[in-house]
Amino acid sequence: MDLLGKIWIVGPCSAESVEQVLATSQALPPGIIFRAGVWKPRTNPNTFQGAGMRALPWLQATRRPTATEVATSEHIHAAVQAGIQYLWIGARTAANPIAVQMLADTLATLPQRPTVLVKNPVNEDAALWLGNIHRLERAGVPVMAIHRGCNHKPCWRMAFELRRQRPDIPLLLDPSHMSGDAKRITELCKKALELEYNGFMIEVHPDPKNALSDSLQQITPKQLTLIIHHLQDHPVPTNDPIELRWRRAEIDELDDQLWSTILRRMQVSDAIGKLKKSQHLPTLQPKRWQQLVDYRRAWAKENGLPTELIDQILEAIHKVSLDRQQ
Ligand code: PEP
Ligand code: MN
Repeated sequence: MDLLGKIWIVGPCSAESVEQVLATSQALPPGIIFRAGVWKPRTNPNTFQGAGMRALPWLQATRRPTATEVATSEHIHAAVQAGIQYLWIGARTAANPIAVQMLADTLATLPQRPTVLVKNPVNEDAALWLGNIHRLERAGVPVMAIHRGCNHKPCWRMAFELRRQRPDIPLLLDPSHMSGDAKRITELCKKALELEYNGFMIEVHPDPKNALSDSLQQITPKQLTLIIHHLQDHPVPTNDPIELRWRRAEIDELDDQLWSTILRRMQVSDAIGKLKKSQHLPTLQPKRWQQLVDYRRAWAKENGLPTELIDQILEAIHKVSLDRQQ
């Protein structure tokens, strides 16, 4: 299968059993690197925490190049001993420079250095992502960067910063963690092709509904094959200069934030409306409204925005808020 000249790191969120690992691997096209988490950084301690050490031979049984997440020195030694050539540093570990330095120090002692995939930290922080990459490079390991977004959203601005500062490092997209939603994988893969990413990390499970972790975002191997065919048959437009394509992605990201903020503002205002009703207070509170307008106008002046823009937008938002409260 033509993999579009990209790096593909594909497999389940977690290695659950030898059967699940082999069923997934056997259904995937040749040429991919097989991924599966063995030690899982889960939010809730009552959920599946990964199969641990005993899952390492399952990965080896795929007879593919393999990748797994490491968060401690012990993980690194065990994974490397089990023949795993690619290690990734997860978003939660990537938020802690002391933890990353400890991993780098361990990697520096190995006679054979695995390739390390560095996810962006959980919070939007290009400098920390770059700093982690630097720590690993100083340890002498080959590095790739994985953009997995923050809070189930892409951070194109952060990824562009990384691309600008380190155009020499392969940059991969992880649409699974970026969206948390299997339905959005195709659209995000297209975006990655448009922005000239070097590859993908995608979560694939033979039975996503019953996956022990990240069940909403995993797709079947068959779905992945269909996505790859779709990408082959529908080349993305790449006529515009690359910087323009990145800047447009940034605008889309900001618009998403703007509109979700307006939506959340409406929801808070609805709650205020209910409170006012229950307390028999009038919906329109002119003094409060005037304070809000004055404050925002002064802010606009300081930041070089025309006050008419503030007036128009605030007026429009306020009108809808009042209508909803009544
Ligand atoms: C994963 O890839 O399974 C994972 C836990 O990723 P992240 O650190 O990006 O959440
Ligand atoms: Mn996952």
